[in-house]
Amino acid sequence: MQVVNTIAEVRAAVRAARSRGQRIGFVPTMGYLHEGHLSLVAAARAETDLVVVSLFVNPLQFGPNEDLARYPRDLERDQRLLEAGNCDLLFAPSVDEMYPRPMETEVNLPNLAAVLCGRSRPTHFRGVATVVCKLFQIVQPDVAFFGQKDAQQVAVVRRMVEDLSIPVEIRAVPTVREPDGLAKSSRNVYLTPAERADAPVLYRALQAGVQRIEAGERRPEAVREAMVQTVAERPSVRLDYAEVVDGTSLRPLAVVDGYVLLAIAAYLGRARLIDNVQLHVSADEVRRV
Ligand code: AMP
Repeated sequence: MQVVNTIAEVRAAVRAARSRGQRIGFVPTMGYLHEGHLSLVAAARAETDLVVVSLFVNPLQFGPNEDLARYPRDLERDQRLLEAGNCDLLFAPSVDEMYPRPMETEVNLPNLAAVLCGRSRPTHFRGVATVVCKLFQIVQPDVAFFGQKDAQQVAVVRRMVEDLSIPVEIRAVPTVREPDGLAKSSRNVYLTPAERADAPVLYRALQAGVQRIEAGERRPEAVREAMVQTVAERPSVRLDYAEVVDGTSLRPLAVVDGYVLLAIAAYLGRARLIDNVQLHVSADEVRRV
């Protein structure tokens, strides 16, 4: 695996691969890797020839009171995991390399960025869209891989790529979970043992919502209520939101039907965790996607 820190080196490596006729796969991350990230690398490995992973804790996507300074970092360990995962090229730029001067240009999707996580993180998706757009210009991948765990991020990136005609295919990879259902996340290291024991309630709440839909419930508010009640079983878990929305527009649904996203976010001590499930709902079938 080649490890590079500059935009020029990425461009040179990608140009060489392209001249060999190789297809470029790209996995953007903030590092502190776990099996969720590695499943994206495996998906890229299976579909493309040159697998590029970026590791960049992007300051633009953190709000002023968020965890930028204490976000977990371990480059050596990440390098080992990526070697083992058959990554070809690791791009680990400094903040100066990515942003030599304050960014004047921003990518904003005001509607998609304002809902769900955008309500408590109003500048987050602007930072995500801006850095992903910039990384796409640097790597120029054929296919880019994102985790379904960050469903709003996938919706934002897909829409950005369509709106700006960026020539990249977007793949969403299923969420990798701990055996008790907790979605793997770099931020799980913030949890105390007691909080870790409570954390699976997020996924249980989503499952409670799914069960209501499977039982025939089609009122979004009733599904949402099942989620809220499940979270209330663990008083230490402070709900940020539980919502049932359209999976593409992220807008509220009048009726649970079509491509549906059940999404949840909650605070456990210092950690803010998110999770979601996606369904295709029709009159006679409820299918997980
Ligand atoms: P992050 O390093 O948290 O920015 O995540 C980098 C990529 O990994 C994003 O596309 C995430 O959605 C994805 N990811 C994070 N956690 C998981 C997980 N548990 N399962 C699948 N993908 C994940």
